[in-house]
Amino acid sequence: MKTLQSLMARSGEPLGAPLWASTSEQIDACAHAAGEAFVDWSCSNGAARAALLRGLADALESDRTDLVALADQETGLGTARLNGELDRTAFQLRRFAGLAERGAPFDVLDDPAVAGGPPAGHPAMVRQRVPLGPVAMFSASNFPFAFSVLGGDTASALAAGCPVVVKAHNGHLLLSNRVMDLVQKVLKAQGLPAGLVGMVQGSGKDVGVRLIRHPAIAAGAFTGSTRGGAALQAEANARPRPIPFYGELGSTNPVVALPALLASKGAELAATLAGSIGMGCGQFCTSPGLIVLIDGPESDGFVQLLSTALAAQNPHAMLTPGMRQAFDAGVEHMLSAGASPLLREAGTTEAPRPFLAQVDAASFIARSALREEVFGPSSLVVRASTLAQVLQVLQAVGGSLTVTLWGADDESSDTRALVRGAMAIAGRVLFSGVPTGVAVTAAQQHGGPWPSSTQPMTTSVGDASMDRFLRPVALQDAPAWLLARGGRPC
Ligand code: NAP
Repeated sequence: MKTLQSLMARSGEPLGAPLWASTSEQIDACAHAAGEAFVDWSCSNGAARAALLRGLADALESDRTDLVALADQETGLGTARLNGELDRTAFQLRRFAGLAERGAPFDVLDDPAVAGGPPAGHPAMVRQRVPLGPVAMFSASNFPFAFSVLGGDTASALAAGCPVVVKAHNGHLLLSNRVMDLVQKVLKAQGLPAGLVGMVQGSGKDVGVRLIRHPAIAAGAFTGSTRGGAALQAEANARPRPIPFYGELGSTNPVVALPALLASKGAELAATLAGSIGMGCGQFCTSPGLIVLIDGPESDGFVQLLSTALAAQNPHAMLTPGMRQAFDAGVEHMLSAGASPLLREAGTTEAPRPFLAQVDAASFIARSALREEVFGPSSLVVRASTLAQVLQVLQAVGGSLTVTLWGADDESSDTRALVRGAMAIAGRVLFSGVPTGVAVTAAQQHGGPWPSSTQPMTTSVGDASMDRFLRPVALQDAPAWLLARGGRPC
């Protein structure tokens, strides 16, 4: 059996005793148990789903002090941020409880019979949805609560009627195990099967691949790197029966800043942007990794201000030693692809210094290496000569969770073209503020074209994330007893 070791993010020292990696038999047992739990959970009512989700939120909050302390040791994210993230996670669980209680998973579209022959005439049709089945959920490293064991994927899958098998992230193993203990207590107290939420741990290439291949698994949900997500998506597609794989992957989140706004608010915007680049040591999927400017004195001045504001940031240690090394490698890769450094200072073994570089738009468009996400406090300024070239830059990016447009408040052919260009590649377009910070709400869209997501028509945050785990079924001339269930599967 293989062992795993949790590490303290700030020192790299071992934390706690080694843990066992899940064996093949344990992974199979977890997936089977989820399959068995699916039978009853798939037809549970909204009240039962809401009770579980609220129970899980309460359990998280009641163990807050110890959970946050442990998360801080394993991730180095700091107690203020982690307390906020725990609040968001509990809020998210309760939001899905409310949705389930109000019947959102059981929405039906009633299409009464129309007399006469086709195509206008048709039988009575009702469109409703059924849960997909057990979901393999791959926790993210950078949100140890909100995108981990009890994060948005788990909350939305449970609300949809799907059991979950979590693949714990190696960056916060002890926290994952502690949260899983809480989950099991809540399941027991509510008379629900232990297999409704299971967990496996170990290497992704070993444990994660076995999980996504398991015949009892009906969907995958993932947040992490483009490489890891692409590998798991390939596994999901290579199964004898391929399954949906919802991956939220890499994103560079361009910020386009037009000269007129920079002329009036350059200093304020530079400070805001530097804060967003440095926040959480840049370990956010929405971190602004590209700043697209049009050549001119306003942009020159802004780059100076941004460089100064960024130099004043003090990023904390990165989540794992691997990410710290990946940051340095990403910076080197960007420089060797032709970017010129504007701000580059040596960091410590654990914490990098912020990095800012610059490149002309033509080079950016020509060289794909400049378009790769560098996870951490890094950003690349792309200098365009015209608005048309800004649009070409966005097109070269291809897919991003967000695009931010600063200075597009008034309608013109230019701003219409910019908005069209931004909407073509992003799931969320912002007209003020910075892309870090993703509201958990009804209209949220967290997912865009590749490489930001494997399924650009879906979101991994917000109410609509539940739709990922529900499959439409049309009932034709259905009997009264079935219709009386009001969209709840039987
Ligand atoms: P990751 O390497 O993609 O890992 C996420 C999960 O997928 C882990 O459980 C990992 O297991 C598993 N995995 C990775 N490669 C796999 C493979 N080939 N086959 C099967 N499973 C695999 O992401 P991470 O550990 O969170 O961070 C690494 C990098 O991902 C960062 O440096 C950053 O570039 C990027 N990242 C992006 C986002 C985002 O939201 N866009 C968020 C976090 C990280 P193992 O731990 O065993 O590899």
